[in-house]
Amino acid sequence: RILPSEKTGDHLAIDATSTTKGDRSIDRSRLRALMQREEERFVADHPKSRALFERAKRSLLSGVPMHWMVRWAGGFPVFVAEAHGARFRDVDGHEYLDLCLGDTGAMSGHSPKAVVDAVARQAARGITLMLPTEDALWSSEELTRRFGLPFWQFCLTATDANRFSLRLARAITKRPYVLVFNGCYHGTVDETFIGLENGKASSRAGNIGPPVDPTLTTKVVEFNDLDALERALAPGDVACVLAEPALTNVGIVLPQPGFHKSLREITRRTGTFLIIDETHTICAGPGGSTRADSLDPDFLVIGKTIAGGVPAAAYGFTADAAAKIEAMIASDSSDSGGIGGTLAANALSLAAVRATLEHVLTDEAFDRMIANGKRFADGVARAIDKAGLAWHVTRLGCRAEYLFRATPPRNGGEAQAAGDPELDRFMHLYALNRRIVLTPFHMMALMSPVTTADEVDDHTRVFESAISELAAS
Ligand code: PMP
Repeated sequence: RILPSEKTGDHLAIDATSTTKGDRSIDRSRLRALMQREEERFVADHPKSRALFERAKRSLLSGVPMHWMVRWAGGFPVFVAEAHGARFRDVDGHEYLDLCLGDTGAMSGHSPKAVVDAVARQAARGITLMLPTEDALWSSEELTRRFGLPFWQFCLTATDANRFSLRLARAITKRPYVLVFNGCYHGTVDETFIGLENGKASSRAGNIGPPVDPTLTTKVVEFNDLDALERALAPGDVACVLAEPALTNVGIVLPQPGFHKSLREITRRTGTFLIIDETHTICAGPGGSTRADSLDPDFLVIGKTIAGGVPAAAYGFTADAAAKIEAMIASDSSDSGGIGGTLAANALSLAAVRATLEHVLTDEAFDRMIANGKRFADGVARAIDKAGLAWHVTRLGCRAEYLFRATPPRNGGEAQAAGDPELDRFMHLYALNRRIVLTPFHMMALMSPVTTADEVDDHTRVFESAISELAAS
């Protein structure tokens, strides 16, 4: 069988005979027949994107500007003409409801007017200076109001904010290890590319050119496993735990009641810093899960969406950590100590941070976003119920995700075992062909301040139709 992906790029070939770990109740031959139909429809519908992809293969690695874009379902990515609010239009003239929103980078909605205006104003007044502007100060004060931590630094990506926080935690504690949870994702941070294989820590499959084996730098335990956490921290050699409040990159794995209280108690007792990465869990509300669940981290990282899609990220810390950092970093080497970036805290990014926090991702906007997140999850749950599928949907604020298992996973290992790449690609492509975009590589949807209830219901109808086709005999 010739798949469109095989015609257009051999790296995208799908192994049509592969078995999956996921939902075994699905009739695989039916799924593959439907997939073939959807792939043919996708190719027929997107001649201009396909032509650009063919041309791109001559100057871009694998025909894309960032290699992971080869993973979009359909054989090639759609090329975007323009995006506004919760929608975008591709070069073939199709308009999509965007529930991916740049995997949180555009959770504000695409090009919100307040950010566009602020960026235009600042772009005309100086873009990058290596000097502060007042927007930096406004933004740090606002982040303190939202998350509680008193001191902040700015950089360009959540990856960098995580890397810098890990460095600071190691430097202050003089301990060699960091600890992460199985199934986590914190950006392209070398120390975090570790997982559990049959209960044993090892470098993750696909880890490209690690500087050292991550088991030398990192301990890893399952989320919600307090006994394993206690054992890993007991020797007193871990500088920090780096954790999302809920795992969001392996489906959504929510913390069990009491997990965060114990995590904080154990880290404190063992002198281990707690770094909370709110980059995705900002979906829980204006102050993320930290405010919603009264978490009390030593460091907090927030990236992606805080500048409405313009590259910017921030990391905050306690007054105690700030005093230790100031005592430790000699000012004559602070530009060459492994923390920084020439463009970090540039004037343009900070104008965008201010506009986003002041006018777009406001307390009032979150009320609407979360109501739509609930509407999305309720609609999907009803459809799953009606079809009698052993799937479920989980929600955190304005983020919702369905997974191909009957009950919510308690940890990353359980969530990974429910992965079903064939089904995943089908559900994405089916939606894409009906002009709805879900976050690639998992079944996640995010609501922006301008996503409407009608748009959420459009998704519910498409989801119902996909699963009724799958289930038809
Ligand atoms: N932290 C979390 C929780 C993330 O999900 C991601 C990216 N998905 C990052 C950090 C890294 O963000 P970036 O790729 O923008 O550096």
